[in-house]
Amino acid sequence: MSLERFRTHLDPSTPLGPLVAEARSLTVRRFGLTMQLFAPLYLSNACVNTCTYCGFSRPNAIARRTLNEAELAREMDHVAAEGFRHILLVSGEDPRETSLAYLESAVRLAHGRFASVSIEVAPLDETGYRRMLKAGAEGVVVYQEAYDRRAYAAVHTSGPKKDYDARLKAPEIAARAGMRRLGIGALLGLAPWREEAMALATHALRLQKTAWQSTLTLSLPRLRPAAGGYVPEHPVSDEDLVRLVAALRLLLPDAGIVLSTREAAPLRDRLALAGVTMMSAGSRTEPGGYEEPQKAEGQFEISDDRSPAEVAARLRTLGLDPVWKDWDAALV
Ligand code: SF4
Repeated sequence: MSLERFRTHLDPSTPLGPLVAEARSLTVRRFGLTMQLFAPLYLSNACVNTCTYCGFSRPNAIARRTLNEAELAREMDHVAAEGFRHILLVSGEDPRETSLAYLESAVRLAHGRFASVSIEVAPLDETGYRRMLKAGAEGVVVYQEAYDRRAYAAVHTSGPKKDYDARLKAPEIAARAGMRRLGIGALLGLAPWREEAMALATHALRLQKTAWQSTLTLSLPRLRPAAGGYVPEHPVSDEDLVRLVAALRLLLPDAGIVLSTREAAPLRDRLALAGVTMMSAGSRTEPGGYEEPQKAEGQFEISDDRSPAEVAARLRTLGLDPVWKDWDAALV
């Protein structure tokens, strides 16, 4: 499908019902009646960047915490006991608190407990990604947040994350280092969503050529309330989000589409049947939040507070098989 056709699908004049039905049928053909489940685990909310939309933004006077090895192990054991075999290690960007050596040891700890470990941390150079790979990570998530350069500059006002191009290049560098999974995304609400969708789609198509040996996942997080009180300038409605997920599925039949607990349960159920292939469940967005909730500030408020078991049960009633184990790793 061409990008121009994709643009047509984003337009409200294209009826949503048939679009979703087509996306659903394509998702079932490519991925089966499955939904992969994963859990994010926050290592630290220390951050040197000012990102005006984020609860961890440097100027926010919040309770900060970086987990030590024993705390990390407890959190990982908690998540593993819930059934997860796929974990995403997330961290704010602060090289003093979460150095390469720290991240490496967190990955190593996770590798001993989970079938699949991905990281969502500050962009690294190729050597850094190779170290993470060697420690046991196989996936890297780097959201561009805003593809619109002006919007990007307006919300990233200080710190290394101001460098738009360095962020944009990170997934390709991770792929060169050997990472098997790449996650990209746009934070919806920062810029007009249809233009962001076009840019995200263009980025994905490029990665499918330049990083063809890695599998690709796309995320479409919508801004949620967080410390700092940022109000999205370009809100995205539920209907828009459903349309975007369905349109992306039709453009990129083999890409995973990831959905977080930022969205409310009824909408998550709907999106599960519109093209999403991977979901987090029971998430906590504060470091230490699984074992010791509320000792530190979370990144944002979650909307779906169902337990992982409740999410899995609901998926079954929707006719989907929740997959806790990473299927690629299982095949390998
Ligand atoms: S979005 Fe990431 S880099 Fe920006 S303040 Fe939040 S944790 Fe730090």
